[in-house]
Amino acid sequence: MTKQQQLDDIKQRILKDDPVPELREGAKQLVFGDGDPEAEIVFIGEAPGKNEDEQGLPFVGAAGKFLNEMLAMIGLKRQDVYITNIVKYRPANNRDPYPDEKQAFLPYLESQLEVIQPKLTITLGRHSLNCFLPDLSISQVHGQPKRYKGRVYLPLFHPAAALYNGAMRQTLIDDFALIPAILEKIKSS
Ligand code: URA
Repeated sequence: MTKQQQLDDIKQRILKDDPVPELREGAKQLVFGDGDPEAEIVFIGEAPGKNEDEQGLPFVGAAGKFLNEMLAMIGLKRQDVYITNIVKYRPANNRDPYPDEKQAFLPYLESQLEVIQPKLTITLGRHSLNCFLPDLSISQVHGQPKRYKGRVYLPLFHPAAALYNGAMRQTLIDDFALIPAILEKIKSS
């Protein structure tokens, strides 16, 4: 089976298992993930927003536009990476996902990562970071690669949080610029 076929299987599994019916009922559709199943870099956000819910794709609203711009700064396109979220259905009114909702989707996210086997897993925002590394604080570790249980994580601020906050925006851009060197170091080690 190709990686794409394996990812399709995980998507079908979510549809069949229906892990959080309340979320599914309030959303238009599942937002599973987008990009290259062979990617070296996977980005993980929090949960779909309004635009994502409408289009069925992650990061296609304002935060996604900013993410695309930062990818371009380091010579990458969306199609070169894989982008997904912890929670796969939009929470009503864009509220933060509840801990049990994040927990319910975590096994599927883990399966996505097991299929793709990225060299670098980039968490966007504290929810995403704390799913994998619960004891770390985003304000303290952003931009610093963390090796944990066979994976390398790079915690970054969430583009939606940084969009309208000048200082955080610049920090995110500066952290993003570190990605190529971090990736090279992982590949040569
Ligand atoms: N914010 C997220 O965390 N994920 C999206 O897909 C869009 C905005």
